[in-house]
Amino acid sequence: MLFESVVEGVWATGAAEVQLRGECSRCLEDVEAGLAVELQDLYLYPGKESDDEQAARVEGDLIDIEPLLRDQVVLELPFAPLCRPDCAGLCPQCGANLNRDPDHSHPAGADPRWSALAGLIEDIEE
Ligand SMILES: [Zn+2]
Ligand SMILES: [Zn+2]
Repeated sequence: MLFESVVEGVWATGAAEVQLRGECSRCLEDVEAGLAVELQDLYLYPGKESDDEQAARVEGDLIDIEPLLRDQVVLELPFAPLCRPDCAGLCPQCGANLNRDPDHSHPAGADPRWSALAGLIEDIEE
């Protein structure tokens, strides 16, 4: 971070690298990704007037960049994180992870949700 003293306060600029942890929106596997964010904000000296009630302020001799960092990270967050761009997702029938089992398929009519019904039909036919 670079801190420059200006008339109203301290102008902070810098960059931060954060480590994100989430869940793939398709296959629900854990996803970890690095995110680089640019930070810049003006920290007003105590007592300085501002139109912005949320304006960041110098507190004592300290500057708290955490809220700034959090805001920037939230802005940059992907809406639907993916473990990889071509994630195959989950099997809609049994929930198997199709990335691990690309040839995964179900024989026609073997959907477990229908098996009870199939048994019933067999009973009727007998
Ligand atoms: Zn995935
Ligand atoms: Zn399946």
